[in-house]
Amino acid sequence: MLVAWHIDRLTRRLTELEHLIEISQDTGLRIVTVTGDIDLSNDAGRLVGRILASVARGEVERKGARQKRAQQQAAQEGRPAGGRRAFGYESDGLTIRDDEAELVKAAYVDLLQGASLKSIAKRWNDAEMLTTVGNRWIHSTVRETLLNPRYAGVRTYRGEVVGPAVWEPLIDQDTFDAADALLRMPERLVTTGNARKYLLPGLALCWCGSDVTTGRTRHNKRTYNCRATKHLSRAAEPVDALIGGGEIDGVHVRGVVVERLSRPDASSLLTSCHAPEIDDLKAKAEAIRERIDNLATGLEEGILTLASARKASERLRAELDSIERRLQQATTADVLGPLVHAADVEEAWSKCDLRQRRAVIDTLMIVTLLPPPRGRRAFEPESVQIAWKDGRS
Ligand SMILES: [Zn+2]
Repeated sequence: MLVAWHIDRLTRRLTELEHLIEISQDTGLRIVTVTGDIDLSNDAGRLVGRILASVARGEVERKGARQKRAQQQAAQEGRPAGGRRAFGYESDGLTIRDDEAELVKAAYVDLLQGASLKSIAKRWNDAEMLTTVGNRWIHSTVRETLLNPRYAGVRTYRGEVVGPAVWEPLIDQDTFDAADALLRMPERLVTTGNARKYLLPGLALCWCGSDVTTGRTRHNKRTYNCRATKHLSRAAEPVDALIGGGEIDGVHVRGVVVERLSRPDASSLLTSCHAPEIDDLKAKAEAIRERIDNLATGLEEGILTLASARKASERLRAELDSIERRLQQATTADVLGPLVHAADVEEAWSKCDLRQRRAVIDTLMIVTLLPPPRGRRAFEPESVQIAWKDGRS
C-alpha cells in the first residue's frame, strides 16, 4: 500500500498519475490518501483522483504565470530582481554598501585609465573584500562584476535592458559604456596592465607605420620600440618632453601641445564643432544602425536574399563609418575645449592626467618616430615628426 498525505503531494502531473494507476492495476498496489478518502483501486476513486490532480496542475501553471508576470512587472518598474546580492549593494538591491561601492567606482576609473583586471582583483582582495558568494576576487569575477549594467542604474530582464532602475547608480552611463566596450575587446584578455603608464605607447607611430611600445635598455633607460620589428628603439624621455613638456638635455621645454594650444588661432581648432551637428550625426548613425538591424529581420523572414543583404549591409556600414569619423571630429571640442579656453595653457596641461593627455595628443596630431641619427648623443627634434590632424603646420 502507498499512503500519501494528499493527491497533490503524490504528483502534480496527470501523466504520472496515469502511470501510478496503471502500476496499481497491474500489481494490486493500493494507493490511498490521508486527507481525502481516495482509493485508486476503484473507478470512482480514480475519477476523483484525476480531478484533484488536474486541479493541482492548474494551480502550478497559474503560479508560474503569476511569478513570471510579477518578474516582468518588477523589471518594467525598474525594481531589483532579487536573487544573489550585487557587489556594492545590500541584498535589497537598493541600499548602497559604501565600502564596496567605493571600490566599484574606483575600479571603473582605473580600468579606463588602463588598469588590468588582475590589478583591480588584487586591490579588492587587499581591501579584504570577498565576492558576494564568499570567494577571493580573480580577474574573471571582476570582469563579470564590472559588466553588470546595474551600476549605471539600468534594469535588465533576461539579458536585455528594460529601462532605468529605481536604485541609485554608482557610475554614469558613458563610463559604463566605455568600460563595457573595453572589457569586450578581445585583446583585453591578454593586457597585462602597464600599457598606459606612459605618454605615447600605442599612440605614436614608428616610421614603418606600426605603433610603438615601451621597453627598457640594459641601463634601465625607458625606450620607445617599434611593435612590429626590432628596427626602432630610442630613448623615450626626450620624446615625451618634446610633445608634452619637460627637460631635454637639461633644458626645459613647454612641449608642442602647449605651443600649439597657446597660439592665437588655437580656438579655430574647435570651430568646426558645435552641439547641433553632434545631435544630427548621432541621429543619423542611429538610423543607419536600425537599418542594419532591419536587414537581419528581412533575411530571417525571407524577404531578402543573403547576397543582397550582405551588399546592403556593406554599403550601410561604410556610411556608418564615415558618420562615426565625423562624430569623433565633432566631439574634439570636449577634449580640447578646457585647454584652449584656459588662461594659462601650460598650467591647465600640467593638471591633466595621463588619460586626458593622451586623448588631447590623439585629437591633435600624429607623432612619428624616426631612428635617431647614429653616433650623436644630443636629442634631435627633427627625428620626431609631427603631423597636425587639422592639416596646418
Ligand atoms: Zn617599425
